[in-house]
Amino acid sequence: MKAYIVEKEAILHNLDVLLKKADKTPIWAVLKGNGYGLGVEPMAQLCLLKGIRRFAVTELSEAEVIRRLCHDAHILMLRPVVEEEEMKRLLELDVIATVGSTENAAKLSSMAASMGTVAEVHVKVDTGMGRYGFLPGETEKILDIYRYHDSLAVSGIYTHFHTAFGKSRHTARQAEAFTAVLKAIEGAGIETGTPHCCNSHAFLRFPEWKMEGVRIGSALLGRVRVRAGLRRVGICETTVDEIRWLPAGHTTGYGAAWKAKKPTKIAVIPVGWYHGFTNEFGHDIFRFRDCLRDMVGAAKRMIFGKKIYVSVGGKKCPVLGHVGMLHTVCDVSKVSCSVGDKVTVEINPTQVRGMEISFQ
Ligand SMILES: *Cc1c(COP(=O)(O)O)cnc(C)c1O
Repeated sequence: MKAYIVEKEAILHNLDVLLKKADKTPIWAVLKGNGYGLGVEPMAQLCLLKGIRRFAVTELSEAEVIRRLCHDAHILMLRPVVEEEEMKRLLELDVIATVGSTENAAKLSSMAASMGTVAEVHVKVDTGMGRYGFLPGETEKILDIYRYHDSLAVSGIYTHFHTAFGKSRHTARQAEAFTAVLKAIEGAGIETGTPHCCNSHAFLRFPEWKMEGVRIGSALLGRVRVRAGLRRVGICETTVDEIRWLPAGHTTGYGAAWKAKKPTKIAVIPVGWYHGFTNEFGHDIFRFRDCLRDMVGAAKRMIFGKKIYVSVGGKKCPVLGHVGMLHTVCDVSKVSCSVGDKVTVEINPTQVRGMEISFQ
């Protein structure tokens, strides 16, 4: 047995905390990556329960799910849509487009005109992320989007922070660059529409930048580096497959990376990197750079005494040797446990594979 358990109550609690902190500032629930791996539909349903009507996604399939659940939701597409078919679908679904270039604006505007509609758009400003958007110096190009496209209705403008979890000066610099763009637009006598820039970390750490909207993804799952009274969501539950004693000198796992110094009681659990365990960055022990990363990781853990743990019957047990594709071995010498006992394994929800995701 293995399943990825998601506590609905914890997500609802997080939504309460975030809504309270946002006060009157609207929250855009970011449900990209299939709702951070947990599923767009159940995540959107929980957000809707708490009165959230704004969503952000990167796929039209995600937008479709949300539109089906809520016909008047505001759905923002976080990337520019360039393919004709996708553009059509975006306009049919009444999804807000992101415009980050003159070319994209022209295409979208002519598509909207040909469909006899007006595309609602948010302008994207690239203050440092280096992906989509106009550079802060390109205010003339930005102003043209507002001025010259009858088939585009700009209702918002935004930027994205690259290091909101890190040193505050990076975020401040980006926020200031963004603010300067807003001032330039206003200076030209044009209304900017709703400005927004904060992701989860920025919102929790620098609420002074919450502007007229915040885009919250990982904080819905309580998976942030700041303590904000949020509950961490998502845990893999499985059971002990086998318990054995290994004699001193015996090893476990590929590469025999762990060797018993004394007789050791081990538990085998049926979850490995295939399921996303210790798999944040992809994993292939036969690929040189993954090997290297494994070695560096192991060295770090040795030097800093950091171990990977799973929890057997509620007790923390260190993982022995390399995590296998489908199995993990852990030390249960000090734990009284038997086959079939419950094990919990920390897995990032965006990495979960090969097991049911169960909302409870
Ligand atoms: C992913 C994303 C967010 C949400 O980020 P979190 O840190 O998970 O809250 C916000 N804005 C944009 C543009 C994103 O791509």
